[in-house]
Amino acid sequence: MTLLAIRNLTKRFGGLTAVDSLTINVKSGGVHGLIGPNGSGKSTVLNLISGIYRPTEGSIALSGAEITGIKPNQRAKIGVGRTFQNIRLFPTLTVLENVMLGRVTQQRSSPMGIILNSPLMRREVEETTEMARKALRFMSMEAFANEYHRNLPYGHQRLVEIARVLASGAKLMLLDEPAAGLNSSEKKNLGSLLTRMCDVFGSTVLLVEHDMRLLMSVSSTVSAVNFGKLIVTDSTANVQSNPDVIKAYLGAGSSK
Ligand code: ADP
Ligand code: MG
Repeated sequence: MTLLAIRNLTKRFGGLTAVDSLTINVKSGGVHGLIGPNGSGKSTVLNLISGIYRPTEGSIALSGAEITGIKPNQRAKIGVGRTFQNIRLFPTLTVLENVMLGRVTQQRSSPMGIILNSPLMRREVEETTEMARKALRFMSMEAFANEYHRNLPYGHQRLVEIARVLASGAKLMLLDEPAAGLNSSEKKNLGSLLTRMCDVFGSTVLLVEHDMRLLMSVSSTVSAVNFGKLIVTDSTANVQSNPDVIKAYLGAGSSK
């Protein structure tokens, strides 16, 4: 079943076409890798899916429903979650609080309900705390729940970001280079977490990752792009041996 359908998606910045008539289907469940040399439009694609950018042309559908015109917070409500290439968490909040924020978009309490400390609000806070703890537990990060985020080692901070998306209950998780800055054992741990996350929570991950070994080891399907255009979407093994994909990387001066 298709969870995400991108059709003829195009994004121009002035004269530059960052994403060029891109069509990709992402199946429900598991990790779908998105690869391409630097500047090939990967982050822009994630920004278009999460609604930070408006496409110049094309459409995006989630579970068959068109989401091209709706705002980022509405997309988050219907299950689109993301992390950024650079960590964007609140340094002065605790780990638990940061993870709880992932669920705020899901809450139904009105501002008045919050002021009056309504039963619905109290229930939602309890629910949010429980989901956040569950996400941290899953990532073996519960021991750090009450630490300030800024005091955590970098590798742990990255996991908190993922825990936050997980706690939000997102159906589709857009991860932009989650392994950046991690050492090899942290990368290994991240890889197994991503795989297990899909199994345990039924998540679907669209993964942009510079580390090819990691990306290929967790993805069942991979889409390769170059200059904003799709080269191919295929099984991981087929993409790895695709001559056009190899050429795109060699052409960009990288052997990865
Ligand atoms: P990738 O994530 O694959 O490295 P990006 O999506 O960040 O690539 O960028 C694709 C191209 O679009 C690059 O040439 C980049 O400079 C350009 N670009 C990205 N965002 C903007 C923006 N907000 N304004 C202008 N150009 C942008
Ligand atoms: Mg990028």
